[in-house]
Amino acid sequence: MPESLSTDVLIVGGGVAGLWLNARLRRQGFATLLVDNGTLGGGQSVKSQGIIHGGTKYALSGALTGASEAIADMPRRWREALEGKGELDLSGVRLLSDAHYLWSPGTLAGNLTSFFASKAVRSRVGQVKGDELPPALQHPKFKGKVYRLSELVLDVPSLIARLAELAGDSLLAGQQVEPLLDGDELVGLRVDGREIRAQRIVFSAGGGTAELLTSLGLQQPAMQRRPLHMVIVKAPTLKPLYAHCLGGGTKPRITVTSHPAADGEWVWYLGGDLAEADGVARDEASQIAAAKKELAELVPWIDLSAAHWATLRIDRAEPAQSALARPDNAFLAEQGRLLVGWPTKLALSPDFSDRVEAALARDGIRPGQHPVLPELPRPPLTGPFWEGLLP
Ligand code: FAD
Repeated sequence: MPESLSTDVLIVGGGVAGLWLNARLRRQGFATLLVDNGTLGGGQSVKSQGIIHGGTKYALSGALTGASEAIADMPRRWREALEGKGELDLSGVRLLSDAHYLWSPGTLAGNLTSFFASKAVRSRVGQVKGDELPPALQHPKFKGKVYRLSELVLDVPSLIARLAELAGDSLLAGQQVEPLLDGDELVGLRVDGREIRAQRIVFSAGGGTAELLTSLGLQQPAMQRRPLHMVIVKAPTLKPLYAHCLGGGTKPRITVTSHPAADGEWVWYLGGDLAEADGVARDEASQIAAAKKELAELVPWIDLSAAHWATLRIDRAEPAQSALARPDNAFLAEQGRLLVGWPTKLALSPDFSDRVEAALARDGIRPGQHPVLPELPRPPLTGPFWEGLLP
């Protein structure tokens, strides 16, 4: 006899989106099970830069779009959670920086003029100088302007660990996920032979969602992958920096975040335009050469002669959009008991949960009675990915 379990909401995928949703539903009294076939947070989540955007970056094109407005509330919601006063208790999660910065290396007046033309941006952004500058930019040779954005940067491994703690006994390591049908109706999933019935099933498996849908014979919602070629650099001379460095265009030239290595040094993680199309086309050696050139131009006072370099290829998984445009909000599609989505940004995980909860409320789904769960195999937690890539 296969083991038979039941729950209210069965979630597949334990990145930040699934884990956040799981914790929120449990807090409201729902029984949940969350299945992951890898390490919790080990997909895109731990490889993200951990920035809790408020959307200011998207105003670089000159106008605050829908995107900027939808995301504007996220820093407040995360801040409250980090203080233990919000929708989840994330006290204890390591905050790497209380602000993210916008850094103009000097010659970009036109770009910034359109940026500051927006009143909403002016109210959120303040220029910093002297000893208010991020430590890595406090140097007599530094020229340019720096603006403080009211956005946070989090240590994602500690976030994942906390969300896994909030998951209690609801986590299940499972490799093979198959549909559990009653006639034609999807009523649950069979996970490594265990039958799990649920009132609702949520796929939040990031890049794995397309394959899960195929296994159910579904083509919708379509997913897109946006490849990135990120760079990491570790050196004893690096000090923390969390900033979008502006180039001539509407996207940051590079986006730098800083992450603590186990030996006490800082690792800079470089994304932005450097990691997009041209960067994706470069091999590892050329991508490292491009990053070295950027840093030599932008922060020539930092001695990187003893630095270790590596690159990381990673796809963003998102709902399909025309011309690989960036989606604006968390995305959720529904089909009977099945809900499928992508937060599109780590920062938007609360928005993803809102959408699932609204669908449950609309359909009158309430916490039910379920037998106590047996002891289940638990998926391991991800660690800091940079430790595996650098000496
Ligand atoms: P994931 O984190 O990818 O998690 C999916 C989970 O599903 C994984 O644990 C995986 O093991 C599991 N899984 C997959 N297939 C299956 C299956 N068949 N069965 C069971 N489990 C399965 N966003 C921000 O807000 N700020 C940033 O600074 C930022 N920086 C980024 C930088 C990079 C380089 C990248 C790639 C993304 C960045 N993002 C950022 C976007 C952000 O990382 C993602 O939107 C977010 O992490 C997606 O979370 P997720 O839970 O949907 O997916």
